[in-house]
Amino acid sequence: MPLLNSVYRQREAGKPLVTLDDYRAAGGYQALPKVLAEMDPDDLQYEFMRSGLRGRGGAGFPMGKKASFLPKDSQRPKYVVCNADESEPGTFKDREIMEFNPFQLLEGITLAGYAIGAVRGYIYIRGEYEHQARVLDRAVAEARAAGLLGTGLFKSTFDFDITVYRGAGAYICGEETALLESLEGKRGQPRLKPPFPAVAGLYHSPTLINNVETLAALPPIVEKGADWYAGLGTEKSPGTKIFCVSGHVMRPGNYEIVLGETTLRELIFVHAGGLRPGRRVKAVWVGGSSVPPLGEQHLDTPLDYEALAAAGTMLGSGGCIVMDDSGSVVRTTLRLVTFYRHESCGKCSPCREGTSWMEKLLQRIVDGQAGPDDLEMLKALFGRISGRTLCPLAEGAVGPVRTALELFPDDWADALENGVPVPEPMLPVSS
Ligand code: SF4
Repeated sequence: MPLLNSVYRQREAGKPLVTLDDYRAAGGYQALPKVLAEMDPDDLQYEFMRSGLRGRGGAGFPMGKKASFLPKDSQRPKYVVCNADESEPGTFKDREIMEFNPFQLLEGITLAGYAIGAVRGYIYIRGEYEHQARVLDRAVAEARAAGLLGTGLFKSTFDFDITVYRGAGAYICGEETALLESLEGKRGQPRLKPPFPAVAGLYHSPTLINNVETLAALPPIVEKGADWYAGLGTEKSPGTKIFCVSGHVMRPGNYEIVLGETTLRELIFVHAGGLRPGRRVKAVWVGGSSVPPLGEQHLDTPLDYEALAAAGTMLGSGGCIVMDDSGSVVRTTLRLVTFYRHESCGKCSPCREGTSWMEKLLQRIVDGQAGPDDLEMLKALFGRISGRTLCPLAEGAVGPVRTALELFPDDWADALENGVPVPEPMLPVSS
């Protein structure tokens, strides 16, 4: 079995694990029979908790603790929902896990299902991932035919099956309650919490929702043990994490690192091949487009939850977008806000109207038509949006703008004076 989610090494070695035979030959489907024969669900939950695995979708909440929130005495069916609605700009790791190692994900979902006593798992995959959805459909059918999904798995009393459900391409459906609404066939808008999905999730039933990368980490954790996993990384950020590096680097791609052992500099310059000759790092959105950017002065920050928080950003989804000094932070900030304005579901006015106003003001700055008042108005908007909305989308739009203003004051002053020229198209990089 590949170490955790390192599907990329398998792919690079020409050995993607797309068939059941491939996955079994690599050591797959050893954790599930072991668990069904030797552990009861509470023991498995405890194992997840001891491993310290944190949700890899963005929030970083401990996975085992989340599983423990589901009521044990509920009369309603329980569900596992795999959040495969990977839509954060700069994030493309789940896509490759599903494409190149689908059975590790299926085994992980089944393990999570056993731990909470679920009857069914759903994979909610974003609409644009057509090919990956087909890969998953084939994998589910193959697993079912082999008796790895269905009734009485491995001659136990555990019945479990998985359904692949395709979304329609809305970023907001990556928010767990909007995802549940969409899965129920309704418009994908976030629900008011509480109640949380652990108590009243899919069809008002107790539901465990985890990201693809999180669930795919479960088989190796079970097989090698929670102590092994907890021993990787730091005390508060155990395990490994996949970073998706894109932007102005020579080797964009997915890189799995042990948390806390690798710095941002190593990720960019060793793993991703560095920048084009003569260029310097200008800004890095290390955890996806909705986290505050870092500057060149932060390159020696270790990649783990705590160190990145101390540097003023978040580990988020691990979508590491790198910009060199040929790029414009101001123009990129406008582009990101345009994205969030477009993806706002419209349910709360501060987000719906606020992102639209932010975009208008930023456009004016980029076009060289703004004055200092516009910048003050932009800053005043932050307080009218932050903390006043149902879900974190609005905060994800505000935070990066606020930090970009703090970290790059000269760029904003220059933009106010001269606007931002349209960038030259970038030539493709080669390794
Ligand atoms: Fe919708 Fe934005 Fe409100 Fe989230 S914050 S519920 S995306 S309007």
